Amino acid sequence: MARHAATPESEKEKRRKWILLITLLLSFAVMVTSLFFLAKIRGWRVRRNDKTLLTIVNAETLAPADSAQTLTFIDDTHMVDARCAYELEQMLADCRAAGHDPCVLAAYRSESEQRELLNAMTEDYMADGSPLEEARRRAAEEVEQPGHSEHQLGLAVDIGGNTDETGTQRWLEEHAWEYGFILRYPAGGEGLTGGGCGENHFRYVGLDAAKQIRELGITLEEYVSMFYSN
Ligand SMILES: [Zn+2]
Repeated sequence: MARHAATPESEKEKRRKWILLITLLLSFAVMVTSLFFLAKIRGWRVRRNDKTLLTIVNAETLAPADSAQTLTFIDDTHMVDARCAYELEQMLADCRAAGHDPCVLAAYRSESEQRELLNAMTEDYMADGSPLEEARRRAAEEVEQPGHSEHQLGLAVDIGGNTDETGTQRWLEEHAWEYGFILRYPAGGEGLTGGGCGENHFRYVGLDAAKQIRELGITLEEYVSMFYSN
């Protein structure tokens, strides 16, 4: 009997062993978790399927001069980069099937079309009585400068709703990532994105990137600087 009774020393020893074991297990768990995340991030980098889908164009960064994309018509008037046409059509079809009525308001725009848009907006303000400088300033608040619009990439679309603007917008915000699109200018991210084209502007970045950007809840600017700046 007596030899089974634990002395205070052996109790202490036993406790110490347990603490050591738990510490080792916790360290192991932390190590495995870290390795898992490192592998995941590495996987994301390795899967950088097509970096040109992640091209940043904003108020500071000009669209690359050599963006020689293959454009394709998605309806009578709008063209997009052929790499996102199929998924865009699927997204619009599924949005309609969910009871909404999306319509493409804008898609590809060349640099000169962007200039025309800005000039037209300036003229509208002048017609309303604004002097030239004020008209220019007001137009620039609504329309990006030539060369600074993502629409020039052919990877961006503005989507409205014919009769159900809010429902369409909500559905797209919820589901766009499933088709490789992101809401490019999320509310609250204006400090990073510049606010750009507005709230109905969706940008194609590819399926993996769209999923990751959504999971992380970040802007395209943050995503590119986190994973693709060398
Ligand atoms: Zn837009």
